[in-house]
Amino acid sequence: MVKDTALSRRRSRVRIPLGSPTIPKEAGILQFKSLGLDDRLMRGITSVGYETLTPIQDKTIPISMEGRDVLGLAQTGTGKTAAFAIPVLEKLSTGYNGKIRALVVAPTRELADQIHDNISHLSSSMKTKSITLYGGVSKNPQDDKLAKGVDIAVACPGRLLDHIRESTIDLSSINILVLDEADTMCDMGFLPDIRQIIKHLPKNRQTLFFAATMPKEIRNLAKDILNDPTEVQIGVIAPAKTVSHSLYPVTEKLKPTLFFQLIETTATGQVIVFTRTKHRTKKLFSELEKRKYKAAALQGNMSQNRRTQSIEGFRKGKFDFLVATDIASRGIDIPDVSHVINYDMPNTVDAYIHRIGRTGRAEALGQAITITTPDDESMIRKIEQVLKSSIERKKIDDFDYGNQHSSGERKKSAHNRDRNNPFKYRKKSFNQKRRNIDSSRTKKTVG
Ligand code: AMP
Repeated sequence: MVKDTALSRRRSRVRIPLGSPTIPKEAGILQFKSLGLDDRLMRGITSVGYETLTPIQDKTIPISMEGRDVLGLAQTGTGKTAAFAIPVLEKLSTGYNGKIRALVVAPTRELADQIHDNISHLSSSMKTKSITLYGGVSKNPQDDKLAKGVDIAVACPGRLLDHIRESTIDLSSINILVLDEADTMCDMGFLPDIRQIIKHLPKNRQTLFFAATMPKEIRNLAKDILNDPTEVQIGVIAPAKTVSHSLYPVTEKLKPTLFFQLIETTATGQVIVFTRTKHRTKKLFSELEKRKYKAAALQGNMSQNRRTQSIEGFRKGKFDFLVATDIASRGIDIPDVSHVINYDMPNTVDAYIHRIGRTGRAEALGQAITITTPDDESMIRKIEQVLKSSIERKKIDDFDYGNQHSSGERKKSAHNRDRNNPFKYRKKSFNQKRRNIDSSRTKKTVG
């Protein structure tokens, strides 16, 4: 029976032990206890298990605590959230007045939730109250909480502007502004909104500005809003060294079949699969579900509740696969992702780097697999330029690539039958499936 076979196939998949992520330790880097932080904040830091500062924290926290503006070039996975959350909480540890004193602006709801969670854990022994403000959920509960008084708002630009327009938020007491993933906000078209928001903030404030890349518009924004900032750069904007890359060339038509054969014959832990569109995410997700894989989807048409359920479920290990659009490619911290599979090649090299940055986090090993079609050649060359090496092209043993150059009419018509169902799975004998799982799995073709 299809159901039982799918389940047993799933059970027989080998899982890679990933171990717990470790933050690289460098000689001379500070311990949190030497920073002289507020005791309650220190308790929060200890409760989340941080002892040593990560390089970005080492370079920015002492400067931020002096009240200086910071321009930080760093990707997520470096400890960037705590790098701004800790000085914010230290600054807010005295002088509670029921007014918002810190504003954090982030591009996506998921990232806002993640920042809010981090702040909540770090401030678990403090009186500090934090709120998230983003669209896709009712505004009334946000209005109520704002009216009761909060210290920190973590907001996405659109909903924050709604609150500003409707005067449901008072920003007159903001003395620290954090812009997180400013480059992503720019890519998402939020730059005018950011400039608009800044007009409503007191001029006399501290600003901490973080971006992973520094295109011209972002540099200009930084110049306009930062006051004599200290510039800090952590690592180059290049894919993590802990990620190995491979390509699986195939025709568009055979992509779904290859994808399923790939996941059946590859030892994986948790996998994020990126597709080009919301529709393709939806379709691939339902096909995974139909085959009894533990999968979740993440795409912009889903309600906020369902998006949160997908992320949280994936984070907690309830799902093995998260099928997503690029919405999940930035900022989301899920430490144990063993593989990122690009079901579709991303549109830009930046997007590739962001996507594969979801694996190989915090020094754990990760693999980036991209299923490519002949149309992707020029993007492959651009990615290889950034990686400064060619990416290994791989083939799956026993996979029938034959119809890519199909000559026989019989073969053609068998595949034509499935043309309207891109996820139609080729039937194989049980022994053949076993061979796939037990075999040495992949075969290198071009180096
Ligand atoms: P981020 O770059 O903020 O997404 O952080 C990446 C991961 O590193 C998160 O899981 C953090 O909880 C963790 N982290 C941040 N700072 C430290 C630290 N000093 N020591 C250990 N883990 C940390």
